[in-house]
Amino acid sequence: MKNNHSLECAVWEFTLACNLNCIHCGSSAGGSRSDELSTSEAVSLCHDLKRTGCLGIALMGGEPLLRPDFWQIARLIRELGMELSVITNGTLSSGDTFAGLRELAPRAIAVSIDAADPEIHDRIRGQKGAWAKTWAFVREAKAEGLPISVITTVHKLNINELSRIREMLLGQNIAWQIQVAGAEGKRFPRELLLDEEEFYATGLFIASTRRKYPVRVMPVIGAHDMGYNSLMLDNISLAPQWTGCQAGITVIGIQSNGNIKGCLSMDDSTIEGNVRQMPVCDLWNSCEAFSYSRDFKPADAGEYCRDCMHLAGCKGGCNEMSLMKTGKYHNDPYCFNRLEKRLFRDELRNPFYRLMLRMKRRANAFMRKREDRQLRRSFLGNR
Ligand code: SF4
Ligand code: SF4
Repeated sequence: MKNNHSLECAVWEFTLACNLNCIHCGSSAGGSRSDELSTSEAVSLCHDLKRTGCLGIALMGGEPLLRPDFWQIARLIRELGMELSVITNGTLSSGDTFAGLRELAPRAIAVSIDAADPEIHDRIRGQKGAWAKTWAFVREAKAEGLPISVITTVHKLNINELSRIREMLLGQNIAWQIQVAGAEGKRFPRELLLDEEEFYATGLFIASTRRKYPVRVMPVIGAHDMGYNSLMLDNISLAPQWTGCQAGITVIGIQSNGNIKGCLSMDDSTIEGNVRQMPVCDLWNSCEAFSYSRDFKPADAGEYCRDCMHLAGCKGGCNEMSLMKTGKYHNDPYCFNRLEKRLFRDELRNPFYRLMLRMKRRANAFMRKREDRQLRRSFLGNR
């Protein structure tokens, strides 16, 4: 029997090999896996994803440009009519890289910049000189007219860098996504994770940047899983509204050895199968797959979300964060709605204050409609 879910995006860890050694890398990349998919298996996977109805593939790593068949597979993805995004550390370009990327007409190319201070970035990325190479990549990609965007992953080592990174990006029309580090990676000391106040402060930084600067000056968003159902802040993500974790609903994650998960950020306990044993198409269409996500019932929610009025639509937030922090699905403690109720308890008890906030947010959302369309173009191009 076929399920009702349409696969919009496959995030493919193309290889685990990486030339950097980033402290917060969720996949703990470095060497390639001993059993990575061969080129012919990668070709079959592309056809299989197309058969599944997949609209776009994001190639990431490790560092995807390290695989010698990167260009062959990237071209095939485009020939099959799927969108292509590339997430690279931006340190490995040669003379031909930008012309090759231009030919692929990718939907997005994202590189990571974790600090304005080269020394801090290089320390986080585990390689001296990485900042200079990545910045050169950003500048050249921009000059070539490629849809380049910058991702900053925030933790205690770089939270104070945000306003300086903003200064670097101001007026350059480079799309900037801010996300927070998770604790899946083996190299990442858990004490560097943002605490609840720092997490909220990061959201506040994004919201205030969006208020202060027009999109053409500073196109900035929080990652898709940041925030939700805030009582006080305007929406900070690209989607107009949070509709719950999309793992196994519209997105899928594929590891370089063919393991399939709903989302690559979740740990290996969430592996649903392997493309060598079962084609993605069959797994995606199986009624048993991704049951934690597809078959969500309010009774599945944990203590943080159980009584929340947003539960039906929100489904308890980001499952990766939820599992990492509480060991349970549907129980995300890093939720703006919950944090605001804790941080601003007294103010929010006042019904007039709540009404005023609601009206202000609605008015802002109306005023921002045009800006939000521009924001989508900055991140996704015109298609
Ligand atoms: S408390 Fe849970 S269900 Fe409610 S908005 Fe936050 S994450 Fe969503
Ligand atoms: S687990 Fe979190 S990061 Fe992964 S798809 Fe769900 S919301 Fe997004």
